[in-house]
Amino acid sequence: MTAFDYNAGFDELKESYLFTEVREKVRKFLDVNGGSVINLGVGDVAFPLPRSAVRAFVKAAVELGDNVRFRGYPEENGYAFLRKAISERYLKQGLCVGEDEIFIGDGSKTDAASLPSVLGKADVLVCEPAYPVYPDAAAINGNRVYYLKGSKQNGFFPSPADAMPKPYVIWLCSPGNPTGAVITRPLLEEWVRFARQTGSLIIFDAAYASFVEEGEVKSIYEVDGAREVAVELFSFSKYAGFTNLRCSWTVIPREISVKGKRLNELWKRRQSVFFNGVSYPVQRAAEAVISGSGEAECMAIIERYKRNARIIGEALSARGVWYTGGKSSPYIWLECPRGTSSREMFKILLEQARIVGTPGCGFGPSGEGYFRLSCFLKESDASVAAERLYKTL
Ligand code: PLP
Repeated sequence: MTAFDYNAGFDELKESYLFTEVREKVRKFLDVNGGSVINLGVGDVAFPLPRSAVRAFVKAAVELGDNVRFRGYPEENGYAFLRKAISERYLKQGLCVGEDEIFIGDGSKTDAASLPSVLGKADVLVCEPAYPVYPDAAAINGNRVYYLKGSKQNGFFPSPADAMPKPYVIWLCSPGNPTGAVITRPLLEEWVRFARQTGSLIIFDAAYASFVEEGEVKSIYEVDGAREVAVELFSFSKYAGFTNLRCSWTVIPREISVKGKRLNELWKRRQSVFFNGVSYPVQRAAEAVISGSGEAECMAIIERYKRNARIIGEALSARGVWYTGGKSSPYIWLECPRGTSSREMFKILLEQARIVGTPGCGFGPSGEGYFRLSCFLKESDASVAAERLYKTL
């Protein structure tokens, strides 16, 4: 027994992290019943790495084994070659993001969980249903968490008019996990206005931005005034299948200030204590997928996931099941038919269709009565899943 108390924030967390709980239930089901299931539950990718990423990774690994080209610790904020490639990618979208405003990380989850810790006492605002990391990390950081309710009526994007007019760290995720909904430009403008008026900080999670259709919002910096109040996260996980390789970026514009200090500088200082950078081969692989043929390869894979979503969506529509998402997102968010609860839906689909999905209630109370299906699947699995959903729902 040690002499310490533990961080009281842990008491705020649900007993088991949602995805672990789902995995456990499926494991028990298979132990008892044998056979297999189609997993539309956890949002992990289904296709291997794009060739361009593998080529760049291997080439860089060979360099590390060479007497002359060997490198030790990576630069903790990311190699200049990758930050430059990202800055140029923004420029192609008509957006100016400086290389010194870009921080390379080992996945958006790490930065999402750590960003609020740079601020002093701060309240966090989460539009739920949401990625569970936002409220869980806030609880561990000792932040108070406030929720706004997403619903069918507000397109799962609450308006700032529903929030108290005070400073928050505001989480916005578009396209959303779990709902797949994309924020409209006017609503994002409202949020930016709210943040500027209240002294809030928006963290815009663009982990799924590469799934959006032409004309939809890809980056919060498309909105005037966002640079003073918004940080943006982008992940290579779903864009390029890097869920194992691990790479992401975080943009912290120079304009954001916290009590006279630049947030950008504070984050740099924080990273120098907590982080030693992303490996050279991973950053070379990341560079390869955001330019030229690498980008085309990634977009072709994303199109295949979106086709899966169309196939599954058609089966739901044929059954008269209401859903959103799937169009600009790998996730379909369906309303459980006939008033079935989320957990009951999980049980029905597992036992009767051998399909694993994620109960909506795990993403917040407004997710009750809804269910998330991930379309990160091989095409053959998508067709079988669609057939089984049609028969079961
Ligand atoms: N943000 C959202 C909304 C996610 O769904 C995920 C992963 O599922 C992440 C961030 C984290 O991605 P990673 O840590 O793999 O970059």
